[in-house]
Amino acid sequence: MSKRIVIALGGNALGKSPEEQLALVERTASTIVDLVEEGYDVVIGHGNGPQVGMVNLAFEYAATHGGGTPAMPFPECGAMTQGYIGYHLQQSIGRELARRGIDKPCATVVTQVVVDADDPAFNNPTKPVGMFYDREQAQRIAQDKGYTFVEDAGRGYRRVVPSPVPVKIVELPVVKSLVSAGAVVITVGGGGIPVVEHSAGDYTGVAAVIDKDRASARLALDLGADMLVILTAVDKVAINYRQPSQRDLDRLTVDQAREYITQGHFAPGSMLPKVESCIDFVAQSRGGVALITSLDKAREALRGTTGTLITP
Ligand code: ADP
Ligand code: MG
Repeated sequence: MSKRIVIALGGNALGKSPEEQLALVERTASTIVDLVEEGYDVVIGHGNGPQVGMVNLAFEYAATHGGGTPAMPFPECGAMTQGYIGYHLQQSIGRELARRGIDKPCATVVTQVVVDADDPAFNNPTKPVGMFYDREQAQRIAQDKGYTFVEDAGRGYRRVVPSPVPVKIVELPVVKSLVSAGAVVITVGGGGIPVVEHSAGDYTGVAAVIDKDRASARLALDLGADMLVILTAVDKVAINYRQPSQRDLDRLTVDQAREYITQGHFAPGSMLPKVESCIDFVAQSRGGVALITSLDKAREALRGTTGTLITP
């Protein structure tokens, strides 16, 4: 049986504007098809920070500046970015597969991810989204809509949403059947559209952002993947990062990783969620390992010559 890998794509694989994204995904597609050629079953998760910010901001701006368009709820903005990013990835991956004569379908699944309504993150929203407002506007919107605003580094007031933990991937059965049918599948885009479950099969979207590395780890566990591969902007995870004593790591056990977290080696908004996601996957899976490396080094890293491998 071929090895199943879940790849989490970071911001550097997608870029910011539609033009930049379309150009960058060419390179991303080439790497992904390299891995398909190596014989892996590939399932792709990806971020959407800049994209969901852009969609949300555009709708907010148009709604408040005479555009005559409605304000767009945050979960709907997330759904739009899954479609938009999935479209670019499907097109580029499809082209690359055809170019290399590989007969394989590629599909994006609009994916909901259940979060716990009692997740403590809901009492402490941290993720800034959308426009900057002055104090009076922010207070008015906060009263009207129940949004939370914070003052953002002297630039004005900005809405913040919580970042809860992913609990369950709603479309998992569909993803499984597509993977079994041999498709390259794109799912949990932006960490998934966050929903709460009222009763079996009854979901409602919530304004929140699920970390894409955590959602990809959940996906890798649920698919029984052999490896979680996090592709980001650095070739390896380091300790003493950006200090003269920086040391890049080839291998990291779960216990070592926990120790380095305690010592504060991984930045909270960037490397920490990646290392934590790898720990979760490796500790809970049966024999699975995790890899953190750059997009450019993915093929080499899967052959074991670079990247940071996280093992039990
Ligand atoms: P992505 O969009 O892929 O999620 P992030 O910017 O969130 O990327 O996280 C990757 C970044 O984490 C790297 O580019 C690097 O600057 C930063 N980083 C923080 N701590 C470390 C560390 N200890 N080792 C390596 N990179 C680190
Ligand atoms: Mg990140």
